[in-house]
Amino acid sequence: MAAADGLTELDRRTGDGDHGANMKLGCEAVLAQIEQLARRPLPDAVRAVGNLLQMKVGGASGPLYGTLFVTLGKGLAQDLEQAPAPARMAAALQGAITAVQRLGRSEPGCKTMLDVLVPVQRLLAEGGPDLLTRIDARAAEAAEATAILKATRGRAAFLGDRSIGHVDPGARSAQLMIAAVCSVLRDA
Ligand code: ADP
Ligand code: MG
Repeated sequence: MAAADGLTELDRRTGDGDHGANMKLGCEAVLAQIEQLARRPLPDAVRAVGNLLQMKVGGASGPLYGTLFVTLGKGLAQDLEQAPAPARMAAALQGAITAVQRLGRSEPGCKTMLDVLVPVQRLLAEGGPDLLTRIDARAAEAAEATAILKATRGRAAFLGDRSIGHVDPGARSAQLMIAAVCSVLRDA
């Protein structure tokens, strides 16, 4: 959980310094149930993770990440036997991103988690070789690229122009989750 300190530091610069603690609570709740979760079909497990995040992660990011995972799980439950895995994942992720955008009344460019999730979804939808490596790299670039944006959603928006020059904490946590998924899938 060393990543929590990094997220807290980022949130200290443009927010209230709780993003690391918020995400840590959520991750600990998931880890506490990891064996039961791993026994469930993937769509159910992803939904259950969303419910845990919704309950345990505080702040603005809790309901947003909760919605992301719950909607992703619901999307994955549809047409299980249909499209190849990356395309099905891309479609489910698109639905989940739309739900987050609706809840947060936000879109890419507002300096949020969406600035990582949206380019990753696009890459996933394109497909192609070395997808995991390219997704990993795109997520890292996209998180860094939030530094040049001016925040127009979330607490950082209160800073206006002073939010420029800092990476968004939610963009970083989204990147860390994507990197974790890529790492597990690469070793699978
Ligand atoms: P809080 O801002 O309530 O303290 P956190 O610190 O846990 O909550 O999470 C902050 C992160 O949540 C931001 O860095 C941003 O990525 C994300 N966020 C905040 N508001 C929105 C929104 N309206 N839409 C999308 N993401 C948002
Ligand atoms: Mg915060």
